Amino acid sequence: MDVYGIIGNPVEHSLSPPMHEAAFRERGIDAKYVTFEADPDRIEEAFRGAEALGIDGLTVTLPFKHDAFEFAEPDEQIRRVGAVNTIDFTESGPVGYNTDMTGTLRAFEHHDVALEGARTVVVGAGGAARALAFGFEDAGADVQIANRTASKAHDLADEVPGATGHELEDLPDLMADADVVANATSVGLESDESVAPADAWHGDLVAFDAVYKPLETRFLKDAAAAGAQTIDGAWMLLFQGVDAFETWTGEDAPVETMNEALRSHL
Ligand code: NAP
Repeated sequence: MDVYGIIGNPVEHSLSPPMHEAAFRERGIDAKYVTFEADPDRIEEAFRGAEALGIDGLTVTLPFKHDAFEFAEPDEQIRRVGAVNTIDFTESGPVGYNTDMTGTLRAFEHHDVALEGARTVVVGAGGAARALAFGFEDAGADVQIANRTASKAHDLADEVPGATGHELEDLPDLMADADVVANATSVGLESDESVAPADAWHGDLVAFDAVYKPLETRFLKDAAAAGAQTIDGAWMLLFQGVDAFETWTGEDAPVETMNEALRSHL
């Protein structure tokens, strides 16, 4: 039997186990997906232990994505993101991926939203914002970054080729000229707040929210009310899992099955 899992702290409410278990069942793969709540002071040991035990792959969640980046050899594309959320334990050693980034791009593709040449605004400058900003740039989009702490937006923009950093107060002006606006802040998480003013939305925008609790955030509700297309945060969660599954197993992921399993637990 193959063994996969998610490592984080906390992890008990993770939605990855039902999503991956459903995928393994659907594909007839004899595998188990386990949750590992690691001690932050012993994370390096935990990664080495997983490798020594012959665990096949790990999803890595907060607060260990940077530790995973240092432990696993990151693939070329995500070296600059500085975070790893998926480890594949291969015969030649652990390889790190950032499927938050690649999965988000697949979520846009799934919704027929072309990013090449699109004018995108990433709101936030933390871990999720890094994945989105590098991903959008990779996909050929123009990237504007706005953040409450403007200096962090400028610092991130300095790393992403062609990107520009802004303060949050500039968001309405940026939205007026944009095609895609992505919330990568924690605003809206288990609250009815939005980082974007309701009257800044217009019907030519696509709204993406990384937050998935609730699924219909204030950010997405305001966007939909103005006629904008919306993509909720569960799509990012889904496709990071889809990419991880395909990396680990080499098989096409059963996307519908994984989506149903995920949404039935939200
Ligand atoms: P993080 O690294 O802690 O970054 C948090 C960001 O939110 C920072 O830019 C911070 O701005 C901003 N922020 C926090 N409170 C704010 C406020 N009251 N007003 C304006 N901005 C505020 O967190 P993260 O890991 O990037 O995660 C961000 C969100 O994405 C979380 O809700 C997380 O659940 C979600 N996420 C979803 C997925 C998925 O698969 N769907 C994956 C990863 C993350 P400052 O720099 O000014 O503090």
